[in-house]
Amino acid sequence: MKSYSLPDSQGHFGRYGGSFVAETLVHALDELREAYDKYRVDPDFQNEFAYELKHFVGRPSPVYHARRWSEKLGGAQIWFKREDLNHTGAHKINNCIGQILLARRMGKPRIIAETGAGQHGVATATVAARYGLECVVYMGSEDVRRQASNMYRMKLLGATVVPVESGSRTLKDALNEAMRDWVTNVENTFYIIGTVAGPHPYPMMVRDFQSVIGTECLEQMPVNVGRQPDYVVASVGGGSNAMGIFYPYIEHQDVQLIGVEAAGEGLETGRHAASLNAGVVGVLHGNRTYVMQDENGQITETHSISAGLDYPGVGPEHAWLKDSGRAQYVGVTDDEALAAFHDCCRTEGIMPALESAHAIAHAVRMAPGLAKDKIILVNLSGRGDKDMHTVADFSGISL
Ligand SMILES: *Cc1c(COP(=O)(O)O)cnc(C)c1O
Repeated sequence: MKSYSLPDSQGHFGRYGGSFVAETLVHALDELREAYDKYRVDPDFQNEFAYELKHFVGRPSPVYHARRWSEKLGGAQIWFKREDLNHTGAHKINNCIGQILLARRMGKPRIIAETGAGQHGVATATVAARYGLECVVYMGSEDVRRQASNMYRMKLLGATVVPVESGSRTLKDALNEAMRDWVTNVENTFYIIGTVAGPHPYPMMVRDFQSVIGTECLEQMPVNVGRQPDYVVASVGGGSNAMGIFYPYIEHQDVQLIGVEAAGEGLETGRHAASLNAGVVGVLHGNRTYVMQDENGQITETHSISAGLDYPGVGPEHAWLKDSGRAQYVGVTDDEALAAFHDCCRTEGIMPALESAHAIAHAVRMAPGLAKDKIILVNLSGRGDKDMHTVADFSGISL
């Protein structure tokens, strides 16, 4: 792979990606694609994006040597890319800033989003407040119940949260409802998708906005260790924090890219969210990719201790990177992620998001078998304060 230039003009990453939507959305997606094609190369747009990332989000986020833990493990050196230090506590805000700047330029006063656990909803409500735009967030009513504090956070930020009562009342139902809203209100509404999924151009656009993560690493690693890492490891839910750190490294063939999916209670139990490891090729959320579905083609319920990884599909570019062999995808179970969460708190003084703890768990698994001069760079995609209750529940502690 000398020069990597995917997707093609139709949004295909090999056989994956594309755009599978109702006729009524074709025009909206054409309009979005044209706007993005224009603004992605517009210096004013790029300057404003960079300014917001610096002053509102707090970028660049540092890279950090997990020195004590690396010494304990006795092998490779583990480094963290500190996305947990961003405003609102994770990488999701990078993409939300990019999309809301685009919405403003397209003259769309109304923002909609779907959310599972509420993380993307909170990031979207945050940027909508910052720009004074109306914001409606769709959230499955089961998720509303499980994540009451994120629901309240969105309300504090001025968003309207619409509980979705259809289907299993979770993320996939919220996705359908957001698509339905968009079809109806396409004239004045911009749909902010929270990961590298959805119909073209979303997977490409979200990747581009998140690639600030990897672009910073490309500069920071040589400054801090004199060279690029040997491995880059990131958790994969929909795949945006992973694409964000992988993308600038794709042409660096010496750097191995490893995505970590949620193996939940174990891949063999069927209770997991590992679409790339255990799913099949299908269509979800407007694109072709690996999905979790049953014999009848119905999307199945996924499971992970980490709400952000609990998504039954995966971005189409990851499907392509897997098939092409450029990236590998492994699974980490709930128990392994929890153990990494606790060890990270006590060894480094950093409480990682449970999503990020999956990536960390794999790095910790790899390190002892590698030489001491090898470098593993882990995308620490978010902070774990939001997960305190989940961790306490698992430990039988009531807060
Ligand atoms: C949402 C989330 C993820 C998973 O989403 P991706 O699109 O796969 O990055 C990972 N980490 C954190 C902290 C999240 O909030």
